[in-house]
Formats: sequence, structure tokens, C-alpha cells
Amino acid sequence: MPPTYEDVLRAEQAIAGVAHHTPVLTSSTADAMTGATLFFKCENFQRMGAFKFRGAYNAIRSLDPTQRRAGVLAFSSGNHAQAIALSARLLGVKATIVMPADAPAAKLAATRDYGGEVITYDRFREDRAALARRIADERGLTLIPPFDHPMVIAGQGTAAKELLDETGALDALVVCVGGGGLIGGCALAAAAIAPRCDVIGVEPAAGDDMRQSFDRGEIVEIPVPQTIADGAMTTRPGELTFPIVRRHVRRIVTVDDAKLVRTMRFFAERMKMIVEPTGCLAAAAVLWGDLPLRGRRVGVIVSGGNVDLDRFAALTGPGG
Ligand SMILES: *Cc1c(COP(=O)(O)O)cnc(C)c1O
Repeated sequence: MPPTYEDVLRAEQAIAGVAHHTPVLTSSTADAMTGATLFFKCENFQRMGAFKFRGAYNAIRSLDPTQRRAGVLAFSSGNHAQAIALSARLLGVKATIVMPADAPAAKLAATRDYGGEVITYDRFREDRAALARRIADERGLTLIPPFDHPMVIAGQGTAAKELLDETGALDALVVCVGGGGLIGGCALAAAAIAPRCDVIGVEPAAGDDMRQSFDRGEIVEIPVPQTIADGAMTTRPGELTFPIVRRHVRRIVTVDDAKLVRTMRFFAERMKMIVEPTGCLAAAAVLWGDLPLRGRRVGVIVSGGNVDLDRFAALTGPGG
């Protein structure tokens, strides 16, 4: 069943007091650069460092007691894995996470620190979806996908609900796009609360599966993209997320990696924040793109901040 705005409202109740109500920051420099009034919703300050906590916690909380006793399973090398591990621990549920053996050591460690059991696989020889399904079947675990799940989408939508509650109606809301869970939930919230707000999606130029699908009116699959936006390297939109995007999103634009790096530097220098490359997508389109935003009140979702300092330095430093 596709999620509705009522599911976003229920998610808001479910995560209340557990997820952080993240700050909305402004920057007179960014306003001067764009001629707009910008409101940055800073999910880099969310628990575990990204909005994914919202959807993961909401999805696990909505399981029935039998499913909770058996435990959950996720396959991800990134923020979804940590979100599931942390949410499961908070809810007293066992989490099993399938991750590539060559995932960054820091990510493997963080997932284990949050209490998840990590099962590694060989990215080049094993099909992780098939492996995850087999483990889920053998152990009776419930698989929680990173975006194509109604309770995950509803949970992510609480980010836009909070933002709009705080700012009042906006003219535009700019949101990064991987598989479309975040923008799907945010678009449901915006359509209900601020129907005149244009929701705009931003993808990495190399990984524009949602834009191609949006333009064609049907799901398009692309090869695994090469981009520094590692949270948006999806190859196709979700079956649940795509129809929501088609219905409620105004347009999808792209930005290249160089603009993501400029945005990482902007956030660090001007707003004193560490933002991961994927977390910069929406702001990059606003700051260095050609969206018609002059004179408008614009929400910008800053989706996450998980980048280790060595990678941050390598990307943004001299020669980066
Ligand atoms: C997962 C993720 C995204 C993409 O979210 P989708 O719901 O897959 O579109 C964007 N930014 C960050 C930081 C993420 O972790």
C-alpha cells in the first residue's frame, strides 16, 4: 500500500521524543548569492547523522510483536544500515545488516557499535539482494529496504513536516534524490500542508535515474553511477516512490560532483557544518544551479553529515 499524508502524521507521533527535531538554519551569504530566502533543514544533526533514522525507526516501530521478536534485516553500506542498527537497539529488536566486506572500516564499526550484527559478503561475487533474502528466510527476519517501503517513506516525510511547521508556507522545497524515499515523504507532506510549494528533486548528474524516469513517465534503470554522492548511487527509482514523485514533484534537476565539493566547502566555511557529499545535493542546485528562486522562500534539505575527516579533506583540500 502506498503511504499517505496520514502515515506521515502517524510517523511524526512514532518518532516524537526519539528522533531529534533538527535545527533550521539560515545564511545571509546564501540568501545574497541566490536572491532567495533560504531555510536549511539540517538533518546532518539528526541521530546517527542523517534523516534515515526517521524512516528506519518508524518502520521498525510499526512491526507486530512476532516480527519484532524475530528481528530485522537490512542490506546497505551506508546510512540506512546505521539507522536500522540504532533504531532496532532503541526498540529492543535484533538487527542483522548485510554489508560488503570492503565497506569503509568506520562504517562497519559504527554499525556494530550501534548493536547490529554485521554479515559481510563479496561485492564482486555475491548478489546481496539474494543473500539478504536467503538470510531473512532462514532466520525469519523482516527485511527493511532503504527507500521502497511505506513506513520508511512516511518517516522521511516528517523532515518536511517539521520544516513547514516551523517556517510556514514555502514557495519551493528542494530535496536530494537517491531512490526517492526522502523526496517521496517530503512531497506528501508538502502537498498536504503547502500545496502551492514546488517540490524540486536533485540528483547527481552521473546518476539521474529518477530524472530520466520522471521525463519518460516510466521507471528507467541505469548502470551503477560513478559519483562522490555515495548515498544517491541508486540505479532505479522505487516502485512506491516513483508514482509519488510523478504526482507531487514539480521537476528533477542534477548537479555534478564539482558543485557538491563547492557546497561542502561553503557549508564548512560559511555555516560551520560538515555535510557529506550526498547531503549537499539540494543546496548545490540552489547555490550554483539555475533554478528560478529569486524573491522566493525556499526550503533546502541538508540530508546527512556522515563523511570521515580524511575523505572530507581529500575532497575539499588543495587539488580536491
Ligand atoms: C539515503 C540518503 C539520500 C537519498 O535518500 P533516498 O530516500 O534514497 O532518496 C540522500 N542523502 C543522504 C545523506 C542519504 O543517506
